[in-house]
Amino acid sequence: MKKLVVAIDGPAGAGKSTVAQLAAKKLGYTYIDTGAMYRAVAWKVLQQGGEVTDEKILSVVPTIDVDLSYENGQTTVRVDGRDVTGEIRTPEVSHIVSQVAALGPVREKMVDLQRRMATRGGVLMDGRDIATNVLPDADVKIYLTASIEERAQRRYKELCEKGLAVNLADIRRDIAARDKADMEREISPLVKADDATLLDTTGLTIDEVVAKILEMAGEKA
Ligand code: C5P
Repeated sequence: MKKLVVAIDGPAGAGKSTVAQLAAKKLGYTYIDTGAMYRAVAWKVLQQGGEVTDEKILSVVPTIDVDLSYENGQTTVRVDGRDVTGEIRTPEVSHIVSQVAALGPVREKMVDLQRRMATRGGVLMDGRDIATNVLPDADVKIYLTASIEERAQRRYKELCEKGLAVNLADIRRDIAARDKADMEREISPLVKADDATLLDTTGLTIDEVVAKILEMAGEKA
């Protein structure tokens, strides 16, 4: 069977990583979480301490080593050899990641890595600019979204389950701000590709969304 390239884009908290991981497992594909790569850069910027400025972000880019590996259904993110998989999911990282991801040199380095990871096919990659910029020739393109209320609720539940003390209103505000920054930035903004299928997951279960993705992949295989 043909090893496909599947691109999934969409706003924060749409459930991309949850459904993409499950679909990748069913297909026997590698899952590539590109948001984790931008989060990794943001994590390193926070390690420098002090105010987060574009200069500080750009100073980190030339030497940072971001490594994303996917084994047995698990993604591991390493920055300069250190496992930061858990540490990149904090509200602090979420808060600055869109500023980090808006800068050209950051995107150039990450997009180059992402394209190299996809060369052999059999991959499911999620992010904001996968169908429009990273992999414009992807076999399957999906734009996954859900209402802001549902996305905030999902993220709130996820963070509470991790034991983090979070507030729903703060999360909603942060998601809305991140969407605005991601959709309005100059370089590779978040936008539905003309040839992507819109999948609104509001009110759908995880299994229903995964089934739809598998159906779309099945039609192309
Ligand atoms: O997917 P996740 O919410 O972890 O992504 C974190 C941030 O990384 C996004 O809000 C966006 O600013 C950035 N990002 C991006 N391009 C991608 C993936 C993520 O700009 N392909």
